[in-house]
Amino acid sequence: MSSQTVSRNAWPHVTDAQWNDWQWQQQQRIRTADQLAKIITLTPEEHEGITQAGALFPMAITPYYASLMHPTDPNCPIRRQAIPTKEELNIDPNEVEDPLAEEKYMPVPGLTHRYPDRVLLYTTHNCPVYCRHCNRKRKVGDPESAAPRAQLARAVQYIRDTPAIRDVLISGGDPLTYADNPLVEMITDIRSIPHVEIVRIHTRNPVTLPQRFTPELVERLKQFHPLYLNTHFNHPAECTPEAAHALMLLANAGFVLGNHMVLLKGINDDPEVVKTLNLWLLKQRVRPYYIFQCDSAQGIAHFRTPVQSGIDIIQSLRGFTSGLAVPHYVVDLTGGGGKVPLVPEYLVEHEGKKMTFKNYAGEHYVYHEG
Ligand code: SF4
Repeated sequence: MSSQTVSRNAWPHVTDAQWNDWQWQQQQRIRTADQLAKIITLTPEEHEGITQAGALFPMAITPYYASLMHPTDPNCPIRRQAIPTKEELNIDPNEVEDPLAEEKYMPVPGLTHRYPDRVLLYTTHNCPVYCRHCNRKRKVGDPESAAPRAQLARAVQYIRDTPAIRDVLISGGDPLTYADNPLVEMITDIRSIPHVEIVRIHTRNPVTLPQRFTPELVERLKQFHPLYLNTHFNHPAECTPEAAHALMLLANAGFVLGNHMVLLKGINDDPEVVKTLNLWLLKQRVRPYYIFQCDSAQGIAHFRTPVQSGIDIIQSLRGFTSGLAVPHYVVDLTGGGGKVPLVPEYLVEHEGKKMTFKNYAGEHYVYHEG
């Protein structure tokens, strides 16, 4: 595929001030096939997908993210992540609505408490772009399912009443969909709880709406450190100067940045793609933290790769590039069992205290245990 993109030129009458305004980007999100057909050549399959699959899990694409699309190639990684296809209507018998059983471990609505010392707090169910591989599509994109204020207050009260919780993950949907004031108020509430040691924000805004990170917002958020921000880059086509600028603002303000990549068939199940992405992330001071095997959410079987692909990618990175660029490859177990790391096999033989290992280049070395 060529690196040709629609580019910002597809919006000739839009001023730079509008383009760089995150609220303009949110308001101008592309929601229909007709709107999208004005900037790219839609295939008949994409057209049908938007009508049929988009009726079940909506389409929304910021002009910024759409500007990264290839104008004619339906295999473009940006198009594949953002445009519904009819394949989403195929439900594999092994797929479930809530693959990580997040709803099962809810002591109060809108908060998952599965592990002893950390919780996952759901905020809005809105996102700038609805990723077609989303594992929370059961509720993301449905405005009816967003957390009302009273629910959020109850969830924060639960954290306050539970001293074992030292780590709060703020997720959604995308919490950065909130306007500055409600976002700062929510984190102020959480931060006022003495036993909460760290707060993590999970957001795809650096990828889909980097304009969201204004210097003013970043300045206001940095009072809440230690604040971690995990984002979700999946492909080098998302690595733009705008994204780099947002990440630079965050890193300069002391955020600890990490990336969660989801392994997606035909998009990033290629060692060179992952290496290029991870080396770019490191230059922006973002640690490639996880590669997730694609979950068993309904209607995303067409994105799922064999597990061996992920192991092969780790093997292709380990030793061949900086260890910092080698994330954990994990399967988040269907049913709520948690994350299981998968690594290539380096131990060849273990006899008594003698261990024979294979290194990254396939050479054998012996190590004697103490
Ligand atoms: S940003 Fe996250 S929550 Fe929102 S649609 Fe994408 S994967 Fe789902």
